[in-house]
Amino acid sequence: MKTMTCRQLGGPCDATLSGTTADEIIKAQDRHLRETVRGGGSDHLPAHEEMKGRWRHPIKAMGWYRDTKKAFAALP
Ligand SMILES: [Zn+2]
Repeated sequence: MKTMTCRQLGGPCDATLSGTTADEIIKAQDRHLRETVRGGGSDHLPAHEEMKGRWRHPIKAMGWYRDTKKAFAALP
């Protein structure tokens, strides 16, 4: 189990997200963004829109995805 922060994943806060794979962390961040925005956290809106865009344009998002996987792999 590894931990990354919302900020490391392109978000604006220091909430921690954990998962055993990079994909799990990305999904946790997706959920965190959605729930925070729904709860009125407009500061998370830009990151949420970016995340939604990544699902829609997976090819364009490959660079971000690869960087996130690399950052995840580099964690202790
Ligand atoms: Zn956050």
